[in-house]
Amino acid sequence: MQYVATIAPVHEDGTECTHTGRDKQDTGCAGRRGYRASCTGGGCTWSKTGARASALAEDRSHHLNAHLTASTAR
Ligand SMILES: [Zn+2]
Ligand SMILES: [Zn+2]
Repeated sequence: MQYVATIAPVHEDGTECTHTGRDKQDTGCAGRRGYRASCTGGGCTWSKTGARASALAEDRSHHLNAHLTASTAR
């Protein structure tokens, strides 16, 4: 089973911000509040929101490690 965890910027209301550069003004982007790491694959719904992408990257790798440990344990 392949698990993929991504980190994406989110708005204040928790929706993903896909606006970049000039787009931000054109679409009325409310601004980014932080980042969300989320895991997909195998029905996993893990996600975590934080202010810094670097901190989330650590959480993400811990989470993916947990998957690896779980799948090799049996
Ligand atoms: Zn946005
Ligand atoms: Zn997961």
